[in-house]
Amino acid sequence: MSKPILVVGAGPSGLAAAHSLASVGQKVILVEKEDTLGGAPILSGYAKLVPSGEWAKDAIGSMVDRVVDNKNITIHKGMTVDKFTGKPGAFKAELSNGKSVSAGATILCTGFTHFDSVNKPEWGFGTFPDVVTTTQVEQMISSGQGVRRPSNGEKPKRVAILLCVGSRDRQIGREWCSKICCSVSANIATEIREELPDCHVYIYYMDIRTFGLYEEVYWKSQEEHKVKYIKARIAEVTSDGDKVIVKGEDTLVKRPITIPFDMVVHAVGMDPNVDNMLISSIFGVDLHHWGYLAQENLYGTAGATSRAGVFVAGSATGPETIDDSIAQGNAAAMSALASITKA
Ligand SMILES: Cc1cc2nc3c(=O)[nH]c(=O)nc-3n(C[C@H](O)[C@H](O)[C@H](O)COP(=O)(O)OP(=O)(O)OC[C@H]3O[C@@H](n4cnc5c(N)ncnc54)[C@H](O)[C@@H]3O)c2cc1C
Ligand code: SF4
Repeated sequence: MSKPILVVGAGPSGLAAAHSLASVGQKVILVEKEDTLGGAPILSGYAKLVPSGEWAKDAIGSMVDRVVDNKNITIHKGMTVDKFTGKPGAFKAELSNGKSVSAGATILCTGFTHFDSVNKPEWGFGTFPDVVTTTQVEQMISSGQGVRRPSNGEKPKRVAILLCVGSRDRQIGREWCSKICCSVSANIATEIREELPDCHVYIYYMDIRTFGLYEEVYWKSQEEHKVKYIKARIAEVTSDGDKVIVKGEDTLVKRPITIPFDMVVHAVGMDPNVDNMLISSIFGVDLHHWGYLAQENLYGTAGATSRAGVFVAGSATGPETIDDSIAQGNAAAMSALASITKA
Protein backbone atom coordinates (compact mmCIF):
# COMPACT_ATOMS: atom_id res chain seq x y z
CA MET A 1 0.00 0.00 0.00
CA SER A 2 1.49 3.35 -1.03
CA LYS A 3 2.02 6.16 1.45
CA PRO A 4 -0.55 8.97 1.69
CA ILE A 5 -0.23 12.09 -0.44
CA LEU A 6 0.17 15.32 1.50
CA VAL A 7 -1.94 18.25 0.28
CA VAL A 8 -1.04 21.61 1.82
CA GLY A 9 -3.80 24.24 1.74
CA ALA A 10 -7.56 23.63 1.66
CA GLY A 11 -8.80 26.24 -0.79
CA PRO A 12 -10.51 25.28 -4.06
CA SER A 13 -7.31 23.77 -5.54
CA GLY A 14 -6.38 21.75 -2.44
CA LEU A 15 -9.95 20.57 -1.89
CA ALA A 16 -10.14 19.42 -5.53
CA ALA A 17 -6.78 17.62 -5.33
CA ALA A 18 -7.69 15.89 -2.05
CA HIS A 19 -11.09 14.81 -3.31
CA SER A 20 -9.93 13.42 -6.62
CA LEU A 21 -7.16 11.41 -4.96
CA ALA A 22 -9.54 10.06 -2.31
CA SER A 23 -12.11 9.14 -4.94
CA VAL A 24 -9.67 6.62 -6.47
CA GLY A 25 -8.92 5.16 -3.04
CA GLN A 26 -5.70 7.09 -2.36
CA LYS A 27 -5.13 8.17 1.25
CA VAL A 28 -4.62 11.92 1.67
CA ILE A 29 -3.34 14.10 4.49
CA LEU A 30 -4.73 17.62 4.16
CA VAL A 31 -2.98 20.36 6.16
CA GLU A 32 -4.64 23.79 6.40
CA LYS A 33 -3.20 26.65 8.42
CA GLU A 34 -6.57 28.22 9.25
CA ASP A 35 -9.29 26.66 11.41
CA THR A 36 -11.77 26.86 8.54
CA LEU A 37 -11.53 25.04 5.20
CA GLY A 38 -12.42 26.59 1.83
CA GLY A 39 -9.62 29.06 1.10
CA ALA A 40 -10.15 32.67 0.05
CA PRO A 41 -13.80 32.37 -1.09
CA ILE A 42 -14.82 31.18 2.40
CA LEU A 43 -12.20 32.89 4.58
CA SER A 44 -12.81 36.26 2.91
CA GLY A 45 -16.59 35.83 2.67
CA TYR A 46 -17.08 36.18 -1.09
CA ALA A 47 -20.67 36.68 -2.24
CA LYS A 48 -21.87 35.36 -5.63
CA LEU A 49 -19.09 33.89 -7.75
CA VAL A 50 -18.35 34.66 -11.38
CA PRO A 51 -19.15 33.20 -13.77
CA SER A 52 -21.62 30.75 -12.16
CA GLY A 53 -23.60 33.22 -10.02
CA GLU A 54 -23.62 30.66 -7.18
CA TRP A 55 -23.06 31.85 -3.61
CA ALA A 56 -19.48 31.06 -2.54
CA LYS A 57 -20.65 29.48 0.72
CA ASP A 58 -22.77 26.99 -1.25
CA ALA A 59 -20.37 26.27 -4.15
CA ILE A 60 -17.18 26.00 -2.11
CA GLY A 61 -19.07 24.77 0.96
CA SER A 62 -20.07 21.64 -0.96
CA MET A 63 -16.41 21.09 -1.92
CA VAL A 64 -15.54 21.30 1.79
CA ASP A 65 -18.32 18.89 2.79
CA ARG A 66 -17.27 16.12 0.42
CA VAL A 67 -13.69 16.30 1.75
CA VAL A 68 -14.68 16.44 5.43
CA ASP A 69 -16.93 13.40 4.99
CA ASN A 70 -14.29 11.34 3.15
CA LYS A 71 -12.72 8.43 5.06
CA ASN A 72 -9.62 8.52 2.85
CA ILE A 73 -8.77 12.08 3.92
CA THR A 74 -7.20 12.99 7.27
CA ILE A 75 -7.51 16.71 7.96
CA HIS A 76 -5.17 18.78 10.13
CA LYS A 77 -6.67 22.26 10.62
CA GLY A 78 -4.91 25.24 12.18
CA MET A 79 -1.61 23.59 11.24
CA THR A 80 1.39 24.16 9.00
CA VAL A 81 4.29 22.01 7.84
CA ASP A 82 7.43 23.22 9.62
CA LYS A 83 9.96 20.74 8.24
CA PHE A 84 9.93 18.60 5.13
CA THR A 85 12.59 15.97 4.39
CA GLY A 86 13.06 12.81 2.36
CA LYS A 87 12.70 11.81 -1.25
CA PRO A 88 9.94 10.90 -3.71
CA GLY A 89 7.96 7.99 -2.31
CA ALA A 90 9.35 8.58 1.21
CA PHE A 91 8.86 12.13 2.48
CA LYS A 92 8.47 13.11 6.13
CA ALA A 93 6.60 16.27 7.16
CA GLU A 94 6.80 17.69 10.66
CA LEU A 95 3.65 19.60 11.58
CA SER A 96 3.42 22.67 13.81
CA ASN A 97 1.90 20.54 16.62
CA GLY A 98 5.14 18.51 16.77
CA LYS A 99 3.66 15.41 15.09
CA SER A 100 5.17 14.04 11.91
CA VAL A 101 3.51 12.34 8.95
CA SER A 102 4.88 10.26 6.09
CA ALA A 103 3.92 11.01 2.51
CA GLY A 104 4.76 9.61 -0.90
CA ALA A 105 4.29 12.97 -2.64
CA THR A 106 3.09 16.47 -1.83
CA ILE A 107 0.89 19.03 -3.55
CA LEU A 108 1.29 22.67 -2.52
CA CYS A 109 -2.06 24.48 -2.80
CA THR A 110 -1.14 27.39 -0.58
CA GLY A 111 -2.87 30.06 -2.65
CA PHE A 112 -2.40 33.82 -2.77
CA THR A 113 -2.65 36.91 -0.54
CA HIS A 114 -5.04 39.77 -1.30
CA PHE A 115 -3.18 42.95 -2.22
CA ASP A 116 -3.13 45.29 0.76
CA SER A 117 -4.46 48.62 -0.48
CA VAL A 118 -2.48 50.61 2.08
CA ASN A 119 0.39 50.04 -0.36
CA LYS A 120 -1.40 52.43 -2.74
CA PRO A 121 -1.85 55.34 -0.28
CA GLU A 122 -2.61 58.01 -2.88
CA TRP A 123 -5.87 56.17 -3.65
CA GLY A 124 -7.27 56.87 -0.19
CA PHE A 125 -7.61 53.43 1.43
CA GLY A 126 -6.85 53.59 5.16
CA THR A 127 -7.27 57.39 5.08
CA PHE A 128 -10.96 57.78 4.18
CA PRO A 129 -13.48 55.31 5.66
CA ASP A 130 -15.60 55.25 2.50
CA VAL A 131 -12.72 53.88 0.45
CA VAL A 132 -13.04 50.09 0.69
CA THR A 133 -11.91 46.97 -1.21
CA THR A 134 -13.77 44.44 -3.34
CA THR A 135 -13.38 41.89 -0.53
CA GLN A 136 -15.11 44.27 1.90
CA VAL A 137 -17.99 44.77 -0.53
CA GLU A 138 -18.21 40.98 -1.05
CA GLN A 139 -18.53 40.66 2.76
CA MET A 140 -21.19 43.40 2.96
CA ILE A 141 -23.25 41.47 0.38
CA SER A 142 -22.64 37.92 1.67
CA SER A 143 -23.37 38.88 5.30
CA GLY A 144 -26.79 40.21 4.27
CA GLN A 145 -25.92 43.68 5.63
CA GLY A 146 -26.00 45.17 2.13
CA VAL A 147 -23.72 47.80 0.63
CA ARG A 148 -23.46 50.76 3.01
CA ARG A 149 -21.10 53.69 3.50
CA PRO A 150 -18.79 52.75 6.41
CA SER A 151 -18.68 56.41 7.55
CA ASN A 152 -22.40 56.76 8.31
CA GLY A 153 -24.17 53.48 7.45
CA GLU A 154 -26.17 55.13 4.65
CA LYS A 155 -26.95 53.60 1.27
CA PRO A 156 -24.53 55.06 -1.28
CA LYS A 157 -26.00 56.92 -4.26
CA ARG A 158 -22.79 56.96 -6.28
CA VAL A 159 -20.06 54.31 -6.20
CA ALA A 160 -16.77 54.18 -8.13
CA ILE A 161 -14.88 50.91 -8.58
CA LEU A 162 -11.19 51.39 -9.43
CA LEU A 163 -9.65 48.49 -11.36
CA CYS A 164 -6.05 47.18 -11.26
CA VAL A 165 -5.34 48.16 -7.64
CA GLY A 166 -2.14 46.27 -6.89
CA SER A 167 -1.90 44.79 -10.38
CA ARG A 168 -0.24 45.97 -13.61
CA ASP A 169 1.55 48.58 -11.53
CA ARG A 170 5.31 48.59 -11.95
CA GLN A 171 5.75 51.50 -9.53
CA ILE A 172 4.80 49.21 -6.65
CA GLY A 173 6.39 46.04 -8.04
CA ARG A 174 3.20 44.35 -9.23
CA GLU A 175 3.54 43.77 -12.94
CA TRP A 176 1.00 41.00 -13.33
CA CYS A 177 -2.66 41.14 -14.31
CA SER A 178 -4.70 39.49 -11.56
CA LYS A 179 -7.02 37.97 -14.17
CA ILE A 180 -10.24 37.93 -12.19
CA CYS A 181 -10.77 41.47 -10.85
CA CYS A 182 -12.40 42.94 -13.99
CA SER A 183 -15.01 40.17 -13.92
CA VAL A 184 -15.41 40.36 -10.13
CA SER A 185 -15.89 44.15 -10.37
CA ALA A 186 -18.50 43.92 -13.14
CA ASN A 187 -20.27 41.34 -10.98
CA ILE A 188 -20.10 43.48 -7.82
CA ALA A 189 -21.34 46.51 -9.80
CA THR A 190 -24.30 44.44 -10.96
CA GLU A 191 -25.02 43.26 -7.41
CA ILE A 192 -24.95 46.86 -6.14
CA ARG A 193 -27.37 47.95 -8.88
CA GLU A 194 -29.68 45.05 -8.03
CA GLU A 195 -29.70 45.92 -4.33
CA LEU A 196 -29.74 49.70 -4.79
CA PRO A 197 -31.40 50.56 -8.14
CA ASP A 198 -30.99 54.30 -7.48
CA CYS A 199 -27.25 54.02 -7.00
CA HIS A 200 -25.05 54.96 -9.97
CA VAL A 201 -22.01 52.73 -10.36
CA TYR A 202 -18.93 53.72 -12.35
CA ILE A 203 -15.97 51.46 -13.18
CA TYR A 204 -12.64 53.20 -13.84
CA TYR A 205 -10.47 51.03 -16.08
CA MET A 206 -7.22 50.92 -18.07
CA ASP A 207 -8.36 47.89 -20.10
CA ILE A 208 -11.22 45.49 -19.53
CA ARG A 209 -10.02 41.89 -19.30
CA THR A 210 -13.15 39.83 -18.83
CA PHE A 211 -11.68 36.95 -20.80
CA GLY A 212 -13.52 33.99 -22.34
CA LEU A 213 -17.01 33.33 -21.01
CA TYR A 214 -16.52 35.97 -18.28
CA GLU A 215 -17.28 38.60 -20.97
CA GLU A 216 -20.97 37.91 -20.35
CA VAL A 217 -20.86 39.59 -16.95
CA TYR A 218 -19.32 42.68 -18.58
CA TRP A 219 -22.04 43.04 -21.24
CA LYS A 220 -24.79 42.36 -18.72
CA SER A 221 -23.46 44.97 -16.31
CA GLN A 222 -23.60 47.61 -19.05
CA GLU A 223 -26.68 46.64 -21.00
CA GLU A 224 -29.02 45.34 -18.30
CA HIS A 225 -27.73 47.14 -15.21
CA LYS A 226 -26.48 50.42 -16.71
CA VAL A 227 -23.07 50.32 -15.06
CA LYS A 228 -20.91 53.06 -16.58
CA TYR A 229 -17.32 52.47 -17.66
CA ILE A 230 -14.72 55.29 -17.70
CA LYS A 231 -11.33 54.69 -19.35
CA ALA A 232 -9.03 56.69 -17.12
CA ARG A 233 -5.72 57.12 -15.36
CA ILE A 234 -6.36 57.88 -11.72
CA ALA A 235 -4.11 60.40 -10.01
CA GLU A 236 -5.51 60.46 -6.47
CA VAL A 237 -8.52 59.99 -4.24
CA THR A 238 -9.24 62.82 -1.80
CA SER A 239 -12.21 63.88 0.34
CA ASP A 240 -14.20 67.03 1.12
CA GLY A 241 -15.15 65.62 4.52
CA ASP A 242 -18.27 63.90 3.17
CA LYS A 243 -17.74 62.69 -0.40
CA VAL A 244 -14.67 60.88 -1.66
CA ILE A 245 -13.33 62.51 -4.79
CA VAL A 246 -11.65 60.63 -7.64
CA LYS A 247 -9.25 62.76 -9.67
CA GLY A 248 -7.63 61.63 -12.88
CA GLU A 249 -7.64 61.86 -16.64
CA ASP A 250 -10.27 60.49 -18.99
CA THR A 251 -7.90 58.88 -21.46
CA LEU A 252 -10.44 58.65 -24.28
CA VAL A 253 -11.11 62.41 -24.47
CA LYS A 254 -7.76 63.32 -22.85
CA ARG A 255 -9.33 65.66 -20.26
CA PRO A 256 -8.87 65.87 -16.48
CA ILE A 257 -11.88 64.58 -14.54
CA THR A 258 -12.81 65.11 -10.89
CA ILE A 259 -15.91 63.27 -9.69
CA PRO A 260 -17.32 62.99 -6.13
CA PHE A 261 -18.65 59.63 -4.90
CA ASP A 262 -20.22 58.24 -1.72
CA MET A 263 -17.97 55.19 -1.85
CA VAL A 264 -14.84 54.16 -3.73
CA VAL A 265 -14.01 50.46 -4.11
CA HIS A 266 -10.49 49.18 -4.82
CA ALA A 267 -10.52 46.08 -7.04
CA VAL A 268 -7.60 44.45 -5.24
CA GLY A 269 -5.27 42.04 -7.00
CA MET A 270 -3.85 38.63 -6.14
CA ASP A 271 -0.37 38.95 -4.62
CA PRO A 272 1.86 35.92 -4.09
CA ASN A 273 1.19 34.30 -0.71
CA VAL A 274 3.15 36.43 1.80
CA ASP A 275 4.65 33.22 3.20
CA ASN A 276 6.05 32.00 -0.13
CA MET A 277 9.71 32.57 0.83
CA LEU A 278 9.18 30.36 3.86
CA ILE A 279 7.16 27.78 1.91
CA SER A 280 9.84 27.68 -0.79
CA SER A 281 12.58 27.09 1.76
CA ILE A 282 10.66 24.45 3.81
CA PHE A 283 9.68 22.42 0.75
CA GLY A 284 12.84 23.14 -1.24
CA VAL A 285 11.03 24.47 -4.32
CA ASP A 286 11.93 27.42 -6.54
CA LEU A 287 9.96 30.66 -6.72
CA HIS A 288 8.87 32.38 -9.92
CA HIS A 289 10.65 35.76 -10.24
CA TRP A 290 7.43 37.52 -9.22
CA GLY A 291 7.24 35.52 -5.99
CA TYR A 292 4.68 32.79 -6.82
CA LEU A 293 5.67 29.10 -6.56
CA ALA A 294 7.35 28.20 -9.86
CA GLN A 295 6.14 25.44 -12.15
CA GLU A 296 8.98 23.47 -13.64
CA ASN A 297 7.38 22.82 -16.97
CA LEU A 298 4.11 24.15 -18.34
CA TYR A 299 3.71 21.49 -21.02
CA GLY A 300 4.98 18.32 -19.32
CA THR A 301 4.00 16.84 -15.96
CA ALA A 302 1.19 19.00 -14.60
CA GLY A 303 2.15 20.97 -11.50
CA ALA A 304 5.76 19.76 -11.34
CA THR A 305 8.05 22.00 -9.27
CA SER A 306 11.84 22.13 -9.11
CA ARG A 307 11.76 19.27 -6.55
CA ALA A 308 10.78 15.76 -7.66
CA GLY A 309 7.68 14.50 -5.87
CA VAL A 310 6.50 17.99 -4.89
CA PHE A 311 3.74 19.50 -7.03
CA VAL A 312 1.89 22.82 -7.04
CA ALA A 313 -1.61 23.89 -8.07
CA GLY A 314 -3.98 26.85 -8.12
CA SER A 315 -3.27 30.45 -7.28
CA ALA A 316 -0.01 29.48 -5.57
CA THR A 317 1.35 29.47 -9.14
CA GLY A 318 0.02 32.95 -10.06
CA PRO A 319 -3.36 34.69 -10.29
CA GLU A 320 -6.01 32.08 -11.15
CA THR A 321 -9.77 31.75 -11.23
CA ILE A 322 -11.53 29.18 -9.07
CA ASP A 323 -12.38 26.87 -11.95
CA ASP A 324 -8.78 26.89 -13.20
CA SER A 325 -7.50 26.35 -9.65
CA ILE A 326 -9.78 23.32 -9.35
CA ALA A 327 -8.59 22.00 -12.74
CA GLN A 328 -4.97 22.44 -11.65
CA GLY A 329 -5.66 20.69 -8.35
CA ASN A 330 -7.09 17.71 -10.23
CA ALA A 331 -4.19 17.68 -12.69
CA ALA A 332 -1.55 17.86 -9.93
CA ALA A 333 -3.37 15.03 -8.13
CA MET A 334 -2.89 12.86 -11.21
CA SER A 335 0.81 13.78 -11.38
CA ALA A 336 1.31 13.04 -7.69
CA LEU A 337 -0.47 9.71 -7.97
CA ALA A 338 1.60 8.72 -11.00
CA SER A 339 4.78 9.67 -9.12
CA ILE A 340 4.08 7.33 -6.19
CA THR A 341 2.93 4.56 -8.48
CA LYS A 342 6.32 4.76 -10.23
CA ALA A 343 8.31 5.23 -7.01
C1 LIG B 1 -11.93 39.90 -4.38
C2 LIG B 1 -11.79 38.61 -5.12
C3 LIG B 1 -12.93 37.94 -5.58
C4 LIG B 1 -12.81 36.76 -6.30
N1 LIG B 1 -13.93 36.19 -6.82
C5 LIG B 1 -13.80 35.11 -7.65
C6 LIG B 1 -14.94 34.60 -8.35
O1 LIG B 1 -16.06 35.10 -8.21
N2 LIG B 1 -14.73 33.56 -9.21
C7 LIG B 1 -13.50 33.01 -9.42
O2 LIG B 1 -13.36 32.08 -10.24
N3 LIG B 1 -12.41 33.46 -8.72
C8 LIG B 1 -12.54 34.50 -7.87
N4 LIG B 1 -11.44 34.98 -7.22
C9 LIG B 1 -10.19 34.22 -7.28
C10 LIG B 1 -10.23 33.10 -6.19
O3 LIG B 1 -10.11 33.70 -4.91
C11 LIG B 1 -9.07 32.12 -6.44
O4 LIG B 1 -9.17 31.60 -7.76
C12 LIG B 1 -9.12 30.93 -5.48
O5 LIG B 1 -9.26 31.34 -4.14
C13 LIG B 1 -7.83 30.11 -5.64
O6 LIG B 1 -7.93 28.95 -4.88
P1 LIG B 1 -6.63 28.29 -4.25
O7 LIG B 1 -7.07 27.03 -3.59
O8 LIG B 1 -5.57 28.18 -5.28
O9 LIG B 1 -6.09 29.34 -3.17
P2 LIG B 1 -6.75 29.97 -1.86
O10 LIG B 1 -8.20 30.16 -2.02
O11 LIG B 1 -5.89 31.15 -1.53
O12 LIG B 1 -6.54 28.83 -0.75
C14 LIG B 1 -5.26 28.55 -0.22
C15 LIG B 1 -5.44 27.86 1.12
O13 LIG B 1 -4.15 27.49 1.60
C16 LIG B 1 -4.03 27.85 2.97
N5 LIG B 1 -2.60 28.05 3.24
C17 LIG B 1 -1.81 29.07 2.84
N6 LIG B 1 -0.56 28.90 3.26
C18 LIG B 1 -0.54 27.74 3.96
C19 LIG B 1 0.47 27.01 4.63
N7 LIG B 1 1.74 27.45 4.70
N8 LIG B 1 0.14 25.84 5.24
C20 LIG B 1 -1.13 25.39 5.21
N9 LIG B 1 -2.14 26.04 4.58
C21 LIG B 1 -1.84 27.18 3.95
C22 LIG B 1 -4.86 29.11 3.08
O14 LIG B 1 -5.23 29.36 4.42
C23 LIG B 1 -6.05 28.77 2.18
O15 LIG B 1 -7.05 28.07 2.87
C24 LIG B 1 -11.53 36.18 -6.52
C25 LIG B 1 -10.38 36.83 -6.04
C26 LIG B 1 -10.50 38.04 -5.38
C27 LIG B 1 -9.25 38.73 -4.94
S1 SF4 C 1 -8.26 41.50 -14.42
FE1 SF4 C 1 -8.75 43.64 -14.96
S2 SF4 C 1 -8.66 44.75 -12.98
FE2 SF4 C 1 -7.60 42.81 -12.68
S3 SF4 C 1 -5.47 43.33 -13.08
FE3 SF4 C 1 -6.30 42.49 -14.99
S4 SF4 C 1 -6.99 44.32 -16.13
FE4 SF4 C 1 -6.66 44.95 -14.00
